Amino acid sequence: MSIANGLTVAKFGGTSVADYDAMHRCADIIINNPATKVVVVSASSGVTNKLVALTQATTTSEQSKLLIKQIASIQYQILDRLGHPSEVAAKIDAVISHISVLAERLVLSRSKAVMDEMLSQGEMCSSVFFAAVLREKGAAAAAFDVRQVMRTDSHHGRAEPQIESIAQLAEEHLAPLLSSQVIVTQGFIGADEEGATTTLGRGGSDYSAALLAEALRATAVEIWTDVAGIYTTDPRLAPNAKPIAEISFNEAAEMATFGAKVLHPATILPAVRQKIQVFVGSSWTPEQGGTWIRHQVSDEPVYRAVAVRRDQTLLNLHSLQMLHAQGFLAQTFATLAKHKISVDLITTSEVNVALTLDKTGSDSSGHGLLSESLLQELSQHCRVRVEDGLALVAVIGNRIASTAGVCRRVFEVLEPHNVRMICQGASPHNLCVLVEEAQAADVIRALHENLFES
Ligand code: ASP
Ligand code: MG
Repeated sequence: MSIANGLTVAKFGGTSVADYDAMHRCADIIINNPATKVVVVSASSGVTNKLVALTQATTTSEQSKLLIKQIASIQYQILDRLGHPSEVAAKIDAVISHISVLAERLVLSRSKAVMDEMLSQGEMCSSVFFAAVLREKGAAAAAFDVRQVMRTDSHHGRAEPQIESIAQLAEEHLAPLLSSQVIVTQGFIGADEEGATTTLGRGGSDYSAALLAEALRATAVEIWTDVAGIYTTDPRLAPNAKPIAEISFNEAAEMATFGAKVLHPATILPAVRQKIQVFVGSSWTPEQGGTWIRHQVSDEPVYRAVAVRRDQTLLNLHSLQMLHAQGFLAQTFATLAKHKISVDLITTSEVNVALTLDKTGSDSSGHGLLSESLLQELSQHCRVRVEDGLALVAVIGNRIASTAGVCRRVFEVLEPHNVRMICQGASPHNLCVLVEEAQAADVIRALHENLFES
């Protein structure tokens, strides 16, 4: 069957589906836009963190019991407000007992597949609830198990979506349902070829929404969160930060990577591939509007925003082998790739390479960034120094590398700060400096003032 034109996929983050009242507000957003046929939800806020805690080896059985009780209490409060419809109650009861079973299984074997199954339970609940809230408001809506279409590889904790299979499966199983109702489905989770549950990495629901939009050839993805779109910087750091009405994919990709957590970095990829416009807004104040991210925008200023990414690790590799030699970088990157480490920034000198890594690139459980075995492997061919507690501050905009005077305006306010690393030139859309975490807020305020307020 052909897929409806003008389809919108709307995604609601954890705080937007935190409880019954929040879901109610979000349901109005869906009902007010007849183009929205697919809703993607995160787990109610806090639930995924508790599920992660349940998968951790250090969690005692006492703690497990308490965590399960807390998760159940979040779910049963929503169920109570819904007035206990029996089919919803049955599904939620089943999820809660499944969580207990999975917790016991993890005691016996710390299987990554079981961990992913555990992590997926929050979205299983919120999607069932959200569909019920829509029905309560008179809309035709049903919950849909995204694992029927969100095909991934078997890399548990950070599975790779398989774009072509997803498109095929969505055409077959999802598209036919959309003519008569709104479908509510889970973000963050998928399934491999064998049907085992996988997850796309923490915060992956935005990515899920964009992947489904791509598969269904939707024209828009809406990301509803608790901030009213993208700002020139985090308003909590600089009170004069201004909302941005429209921004290009290229700038948004930089923003997402360095982002004020507005958008999961990978979200933008499917949208760019299919030129799907992305909206980011607050589900608390939908009337305020938000930011549209588009392929083409009317205005491309040199300075668009200042963003920060905390929790950076700097890996410094030193080796005399590098001197007038070939292949050192190839070997280093092969090792990093083997350990699934994604590298962000790089600077090199004749005998040193400095790389920044960040936790966003680690898996759902937060493990595995710099494992012992990786460090050992690297140490075999160079001296390795690891520095933590750093933050990357990025000036984002257009023509940055080709506009005279940018460096002066950036560095004149950085004088009092120790800049650990500078990256500029690879992208026309950013200039990054690595500073100590403790100085990040001051650096951002100073840059914002100089670039946007003067
Ligand atoms: N619930 C998942 C998480 O907390 C996915 C998401 O919220 O996007 O990471
Ligand atoms: Mg979230």
